[in-house]
Amino acid sequence: MQVITEPREMQAIAEKLRLNRQLLGVVMTMGALHEGHLSLVKLAQKTAGIVIMTIFVNPRQFAPNEDLDRYPRPFEQDVALARAAGVDYLFAPEAGSIYPENFQTTLQCGALAERFDGEHRPGHFNGVATVVTKLLNITKPHLAVFGQKDAQQLAIIRRMVEDLNMEVTILEAPIVREESGLAVSSRNIYLSSEEHNSATVLYRSICHAEKRISEGENNLQAIAEEIAEMIQLTPGCRTEYACFVDEKTFEREVTAEKGKEYRLLLAVYAGNVRLIDNAKFLT
Ligand code: AMP
Repeated sequence: MQVITEPREMQAIAEKLRLNRQLLGVVMTMGALHEGHLSLVKLAQKTAGIVIMTIFVNPRQFAPNEDLDRYPRPFEQDVALARAAGVDYLFAPEAGSIYPENFQTTLQCGALAERFDGEHRPGHFNGVATVVTKLLNITKPHLAVFGQKDAQQLAIIRRMVEDLNMEVTILEAPIVREESGLAVSSRNIYLSSEEHNSATVLYRSICHAEKRISEGENNLQAIAEEIAEMIQLTPGCRTEYACFVDEKTFEREVTAEKGKEYRLLLAVYAGNVRLIDNAKFLT
């Protein structure tokens, strides 16, 4: 595995690989690699001949009050994990080479980015869209794999790729969970053992929704309220949002129609740690 830090060098390598008719896949991460990230690599390897992983903690997707400075950066461990997973190229640039002094051009997402995480993390998705575009331009992949863990992000990236005629196939990987049901996340290391216990309420909420929908309940608003109550009753937990959206539009839905797909979106604080999760339901 080759580690590359300079955008120009990565671009030159990617161009050469493309000219040699290699199929390139990219997995973009912020590092602190875990099983979730590695499942994306596995999916990329199924189709692509060469897998590029990027590790970049993107300052532009963190609000001033967020955890940019304390975000975990175990770089040597990440290099070892990426190598063991069979990643071919690891692109890990410094912030200064992605955003040099005169940098000023950014992407502006639409309505899809103003709800849920977009509402609670202003500017977040514009930062994500900008860096994803830059990393696609630098790594020149045929396909890019993203996790369903960040469902709204995935929807926004799909929208962007279509809106801007980007020539890349987006693949999505299912959420990897711990045995407790908690979705694996780089931020889980912030949780104390009590908070970790409490945080399983996200997965329990998904199971509750599954049960209620399989019983034939079509009042999505009522299920969302039951979930909010479950979360409120969990020590140290607070709901930021818990609601159902239309799977295609990400518009909030209160009543389910038969045969349609909905997604439950959850953002919950366990102590000071903000966790997200989601699940798709067919009614
Ligand atoms: P991050 O490093 O948190 O920005 O995540 C990088 C990529 O890994 C994103 O596409 C995430 O959706 C994906 N990802 C993070 N956690 C998981 C998980 N538990 N299961 C599947 N994909 C994940």
